Amino acid sequence: MQITVGHRIDGKENSVEGERFAEIYNPATGEVSRRVALASAATVDVAVEAAAAAFPAWRDTSLARRTQVLFAFRQLLDARKTELAAIITDEHGKVFTDALGEITRGQEVVEFACGISHLLKGSMSENASTKVDVTSIRQPLGPVAIISPFNFPAMVPMWFFPIAIAAGNTVILKPSEKDPSAANWIADLWAEAGLPPGVFNVVHGDKVAVDRLLDHPDVKAVSFVGSTPIARYVYQRAAINGKRAQALGGAKNHMVVLPDADLDLAADAAVNAGYGSAGERCMAISVLVAVGDIADELVERIRARAVTLRTGNGREDVDMGPLVTEQHRDRVASYIDAGEEGGATVVLDGRTVTPYGDPEGFWLGPTLLDNVTTEMPVYTDEIFGPVLSVVRVDSYAEALEMINTNQYGNGAAIFTNDGGAARRFQNEAEVGMVGINVPVPVPVSYHSFGGWKNSLFGDTHAHGTEGVHFFTRAKAVTTRWLDPSHRGLDLGFPQNN
Ligand code: NAD
Repeated sequence: MQITVGHRIDGKENSVEGERFAEIYNPATGEVSRRVALASAATVDVAVEAAAAAFPAWRDTSLARRTQVLFAFRQLLDARKTELAAIITDEHGKVFTDALGEITRGQEVVEFACGISHLLKGSMSENASTKVDVTSIRQPLGPVAIISPFNFPAMVPMWFFPIAIAAGNTVILKPSEKDPSAANWIADLWAEAGLPPGVFNVVHGDKVAVDRLLDHPDVKAVSFVGSTPIARYVYQRAAINGKRAQALGGAKNHMVVLPDADLDLAADAAVNAGYGSAGERCMAISVLVAVGDIADELVERIRARAVTLRTGNGREDVDMGPLVTEQHRDRVASYIDAGEEGGATVVLDGRTVTPYGDPEGFWLGPTLLDNVTTEMPVYTDEIFGPVLSVVRVDSYAEALEMINTNQYGNGAAIFTNDGGAARRFQNEAEVGMVGINVPVPVPVSYHSFGGWKNSLFGDTHAHGTEGVHFFTRAKAVTTRWLDPSHRGLDLGFPQNN
């Protein structure tokens, strides 16, 4: 009988009778492996009620106790992360070591959140007025929703929930319906770590569940990560309903290679960042901007490396796994077709890949397109697959102009040995994350992750101190302890003296 992935609400595996379902595939075999429940609005309401009921006790749980639970979660995760990585590989398709890598990056946020008692320290001004003290504190919001994409089923939720929980909030996670099982494994781990029921809930579903989370009056904040059109929609609907929202969207990340760069280093970086996780990363490099007369040499060095990559079942010793669904694979391949028809040179063609794995898997090999121009859909659209497009330009100014006029502004990288040029790029590139000789500049957990322009709606980035800020709200307390000398009436506006 087919296994059903159900919700985790209030510490329990919930009944999914009468709900709609979606099929979950193993992308390396093309087979349906299980099915996932798609929550109705009523099921979302049950989860929000559980989170609301758990909130008063959790927000009043001491920082010391909250930290102990987080620390226990971190220890369990570290010890058992291979179990989670296997689940990710089987539902997402990325290679096992890459799955382990995403868990490790998520774990770093858990480690950051273990320092919550330091991060939540308020500030106090003694004698702001005579014998009057003012204290600023930050308090949790209540139940918060996290809505995550398919491409990082563990790391992206972990950008948010460790800090949300550490700060005293309760959480409803709505993961992608394409690879939902990681979320349930995480919920079970929280229970084992001693988190009280109702503090971390998982609701599976699609637009119906998302809309109810956006409309439910008891959901106080929404952290969303996904494609730009949905991010814009989520941000607007959450904001209209008076919720705090941060919605991270799509990307088109450029890597600029200046003529003085080390071309071997740049070629290694382009291959790693272009084809890692089959290009299904929001920080993947999808456009390589070759400046000046290095283009022929650089393209050849990238081709020579990319041709050696093994595409296959991520449980085996391969470099790149399948794409997440057949439909997505076909969509990415259609961009290669269009690029070729539009005049791009197909230097390496992933459509003809021979996989190390089941022929029915959703395969597409590494693809390198040269002579791409900025009008081609392969350049303008987010493709989210193993397709690296090379655009040739004559100058740094042209490269910068491309980045700054692009609708997306997640990340951008420059490869050069010229410190002055790198310094200029850091200053001038209109993106949220810049890499200097680093192709995938995902910041560490104690800094914050986020893009500009259509790559992020809202003003707060993920994790780091901005994450703590997002999951708490400010309160200023003005205090005067009267002594007998202060007796008397005075109806004037309070003045500081
Ligand atoms: P997606 O937008 O299809 O789905 C994201 C989430 O939204 C899922 O939970 C999904 O169930 C839900 N959803 C889908 N359609 C919806 C609708 N009509 N109304 C309400 N909710 C809906 O994204 P995806 O394909 O799962 O993930 C890939 C996308 O995510 C890419 O665009 C990628 O760039 C982006 N992404 C961005 C970042 C970032 O940090 N900026 C990180 C990871 C992924």
